[in-house]
Amino acid sequence: MPDHTDRTSGDWGPETLRAALEAAAEWTVDYRQRVGGLPVFPVVEPGGVRRALGDRPPREPQSFERVLADFDEHIVSGLTHWNHPGFLAYFSSSTRAPSIVAELLIAAVGVNAMLWRTSPAATEVERTAVDWLRQAVGLPASFSGVILDTASTSTFTALLAARERAGTAVRTDGLAGGPSLAVYTSEQSHSSVEKSALAAGLGHRAVRRIEVDDAFRMRPEALEAAIAADLAKGVRPAMVCATVGTTSTASVDPVEALGAVARRHGVWLHVDAAYAGPAAMVPEQRANFRGWETADSIVLNPHKWLGTSLDCSVLLYPEAAPFRASLALTPTYLESEDDETNLMDIGLALGRRFRGLKLWVLFRCVGTDGLAETLRRHIAMAEAAAARLVDGGVFELAAPVSFSTVCFRAAWAGDQATGDRWNREIMARVNAGGRSFLSHTELGRRYVLRLSVGSVHTEERHLDEVLDALHRAADELSPGEPG
Ligand SMILES: *Cc1c(COP(=O)(O)O)cnc(C)c1O
Repeated sequence: MPDHTDRTSGDWGPETLRAALEAAAEWTVDYRQRVGGLPVFPVVEPGGVRRALGDRPPREPQSFERVLADFDEHIVSGLTHWNHPGFLAYFSSSTRAPSIVAELLIAAVGVNAMLWRTSPAATEVERTAVDWLRQAVGLPASFSGVILDTASTSTFTALLAARERAGTAVRTDGLAGGPSLAVYTSEQSHSSVEKSALAAGLGHRAVRRIEVDDAFRMRPEALEAAIAADLAKGVRPAMVCATVGTTSTASVDPVEALGAVARRHGVWLHVDAAYAGPAAMVPEQRANFRGWETADSIVLNPHKWLGTSLDCSVLLYPEAAPFRASLALTPTYLESEDDETNLMDIGLALGRRFRGLKLWVLFRCVGTDGLAETLRRHIAMAEAAAARLVDGGVFELAAPVSFSTVCFRAAWAGDQATGDRWNREIMARVNAGGRSFLSHTELGRRYVLRLSVGSVHTEERHLDEVLDALHRAADELSPGEPG
């Protein structure tokens, strides 16, 4: 491979670029085939990768061949492989093949979709892809939306709109002197809700963690009581955030009932469906989403369970006006004559990646039937794994199986500290094996293991493997005496 740069542009010439693309393509195809044989969690000591990379930037250009070799040797060996079929931790996700190619095309055209006129097609592809997603998950045509980087950003953006609609005039006057605001979300909701409140200047104490029932769902009566208590104190409710697919157990808040409470008090309803949202494409799962069409905003992440590469988070809303009211600001140099939608008006960022392309490519190359089929298969695999896991009596479920997520623990009738330690050791033993990767959470103050199926690479045999490893570890590690 030639390693010289083009003299006129200082960039690679066409032949060098072609050779590098071919080498990267070759590497990618090979990686997808061998990743299942790599340890899912790397064997590294902290700082090891940095040392291998060296302290100083090179002054002279180096061949891509060498760079790729170093990438493979020093960097890939230090990765946790999210595309490993045994990756079952957190909310497992993977990159579907068409999304890899779409990322390449996005980089190739390198456009900025801030205004319609800065790349008309980028705005229109994004609007089309978001609308296809809306149709696929069965939301009414009144909903439109934008693609942002993460659910954290989407929820923060929604809170800014909700804050403005709460009548606080923060846009003109700032927060000082205004009423105290409150945000209502369940004890089980994602930390990004709380972080949004911090970033929006509402403060930690503005977040009301509403009690959940024994299936980890927010209780509407408790929400009603919390709002009433705040109103009595002169605190203004700004937003209710319900979750469909909570972070620990993937539980589903009763959105319809919570929405009725929010509406009665004129409070913004946000639905966080970052993980589970795509499951609305599966008809048997639709009931979990009842009432979400009454929301003022909804977030779902195609980069999680749908298989686009990071980052792709879709924020949907029936009305764009409150978002514009909170953040739209057009300096003279960005004014345009057309009446087209300028996506920079929704959210904080001006520069916008052409993320719509990867969602559009995914719909084109996989189709809604194919996407729904993958989700259905993951849910069936999780349910079957849960059934096999509790078979034999060593393990018990710690929460109802929801979507493709299973929370469980090795059952221990003795004291809690010993039971928790045993479970922690079982997980460490399984993860150290390098074939599967699980994560944990805490429920009712007890240490709980989690398994979540969400990768296109995961097949039944990978679940068989982790179930075997769990049973072996539980067998070998005695709960009485720490191993
Ligand atoms: C993953 C997740 C988030 C955070 O998503 P990011 O895109 O990483 O910010 C928020 N809420 C829920 C329910 C999630 O599952």
